[in-house]
Amino acid sequence: MSRKTTEIETMADFNEPLSGNEMPRFGGIASMFRLPICHELSDVDVAIVGVPLDMGTSNRAGSRYGPRQIRSESVLVRPYSMATGAAPFDSFQVADSGDVSLNAYNLEKSVNIIEQHFDKVLSAQCKTISIGGDHTITLPILRAYAKRYRGMAIIHVDAHSDTNDQMFGESVTHGTIFRRAIEEELVDPKRMFQIGLRATGYSAADFDWARQRGVTVVPAEECWYKSLTPLMANIRSHIGTTCPVYLSFDIDGLDPSVAPGTGTPEPAGLQASQGLEIIRGAFGLNVVGCDLVEVSPPYDTTGNTSLLAANLIFEMLCSLPGCIRDR
Ligand code: MN
Ligand code: MN
Repeated sequence: MSRKTTEIETMADFNEPLSGNEMPRFGGIASMFRLPICHELSDVDVAIVGVPLDMGTSNRAGSRYGPRQIRSESVLVRPYSMATGAAPFDSFQVADSGDVSLNAYNLEKSVNIIEQHFDKVLSAQCKTISIGGDHTITLPILRAYAKRYRGMAIIHVDAHSDTNDQMFGESVTHGTIFRRAIEEELVDPKRMFQIGLRATGYSAADFDWARQRGVTVVPAEECWYKSLTPLMANIRSHIGTTCPVYLSFDIDGLDPSVAPGTGTPEPAGLQASQGLEIIRGAFGLNVVGCDLVEVSPPYDTTGNTSLLAANLIFEMLCSLPGCIRDR
C-alpha cells in the first residue's frame, strides 16, 4: 500500500486504467495506460510526465512526438503482469500528469523549465516516470531530484555513454548529460551502472572518463547471448536497499531490430527480454524515479518501438518499492 493511503481506503480508491471491455482500446482519449489525466498531484503517488523535447538530439530528430505516440500505443497495456504478478494500479495512485510545456525555440530555457516543473512535481511527494523526449531531459530531472535525494545511484541503459564534454561547443545536449550529472555531483558515480554501451566512438577512450570516476560500464558485448538477471542481482547487492536509485532507460540501448524508432540507433544491442530483465531486476531497490527516452515516432513506422516503450514503462511501475506482486 502506498504511503499516501490511509487504512480505511481501499484499492477501489486508486485510479484504474479504463478497461478494454468498457471502451474499445482504439477508442477514447489516449492518456498513458488509459489513466485519468491529473495536474493536481497531492494525492498521487506516481506521476507519469511527458517531456516532448528533441532539441538536444545530434542525429535524427522526432522524439518530441515520443510522449504522444507512447501514450497512444500504451492503450494495449493491461493492468497486471503475467510474469511477476505485479499489480501497480492496486499498489499506488498513478496518474498521467500531462506534458511539460517547453520553449520550442530554446534548449537552455527548456532545460530550466523542465527542472522547475520537476521541482513542483517532487514537492507533492510524488515519484515520477518520465517519457521523453531526447536524453537531455534527464539532466534537469536529476537536478530537481538531487535537491531531495543525496548520492543517488543510477542504472543507465543506453548504446551511448552520454559523457561527452561538449557537442558543437554546447555543454548540455543528449550526449553530455551524464558528464554534467557527475560533475555537478547530482549522482554517485560509484553507484552508477551503464548497461548496453557499444558501437563506434569519437575516440577509443570514450567510455573511460566514466570508468575513471568509478562508474561500472557493462558493454553490450558482455550482455550478448545471456540473461541479465545475474548482473542485476550483482547491481542490487552493490547499491543496497536504502540508497535512492534513478533508472534512466534510453531505448537505443536495445537492438534496432526490436527498437528501430530512435534517433541514434546502433547495431547489436540488447534484446527486448534483456530490457525487461534489467527493469524487473531493479525491484527490491529504493527506486525513486525513472525515465524512458529517445523514442522517435517518425522512425517507428510500425509503432512497435513505442509499444515496447509503453511496456517498459509499465515494468518501471512494477519495480517501484511497495508494488504488490505474487511471484
Ligand atoms: Mn542516451
Ligand atoms: Mn543513446
